[in-house]
Amino acid sequence: MRKTIVAGNWKMNGTRESIKTLLDAITDRAMKIDGLVTLVCPPAVYLSQVVDQIADAPVAVGAQNVSEQSKGAYTGEWSLEMLQDLGCKYVILGHSERRSLFGESDELVAEKVAATLEAGLVPVLCVGETLGQREAGDALVVVNSQISATLQRIGIEGFASVVVAYEPVWAIGTGLTATPGDAQEVHAAIRAQLAEKDAIIADNLSILYGGSMNAANAAELLAQQDIDGGLIGGASLKADEFLTICAAAA
Ligand code: 13P
Repeated sequence: MRKTIVAGNWKMNGTRESIKTLLDAITDRAMKIDGLVTLVCPPAVYLSQVVDQIADAPVAVGAQNVSEQSKGAYTGEWSLEMLQDLGCKYVILGHSERRSLFGESDELVAEKVAATLEAGLVPVLCVGETLGQREAGDALVVVNSQISATLQRIGIEGFASVVVAYEPVWAIGTGLTATPGDAQEVHAAIRAQLAEKDAIIADNLSILYGGSMNAANAAELLAQQDIDGGLIGGASLKADEFLTICAAAA
């Protein structure tokens, strides 16, 4: 069964105090609905605080990145074992900011996805084209090749436990959103690519849309057949807005 997932990527924002306030508002009103996952992904230094605060509320916790290495001399990194130790269930991987600002290649992202699966956590694999690539008519080629890199590493069976997020780079933090039709086209292309290997795994895969999703545009995007939730940046920092998106997805 395909899950609907609404995930807040808080990126590098917040303080102990502001995160407590935001999370209080979310946990107060988060809905416990079969098939709906409400997920928050705070900065790593606040993961422990967030896991403790959530307690029994129907909200899952994810990290925004993780090392592909298991332990040792990797200053500034954290491991999957540490995330597990904290009670963290999801890991965003291959976000376009990691790819463009921190030089993460398709191969490294695939390695991280593989390590995350091995540790029993759920990778949220992000893919998406730049504006130049879209204007050149290459959006589908780019996204399919990003998916291919991970497919080669983990095989189609791995995708039974992966969540994909399509985030067009030009829509992230810009206020520009893909039209529901354009987003649906890419989501359907990702599903079709995986269906060539295994139709059931492809059908069960949750594919989230990300890029300036907000309370005003969420319903129309989420109504598309192959859009199974959202990965939300800016709007996830406002409880009302985030909860409105969750309600639209429910
Ligand atoms: P915005 O919702 O701020 O555009 O960010 C999207 C995003 O990058 C989520 O991972």
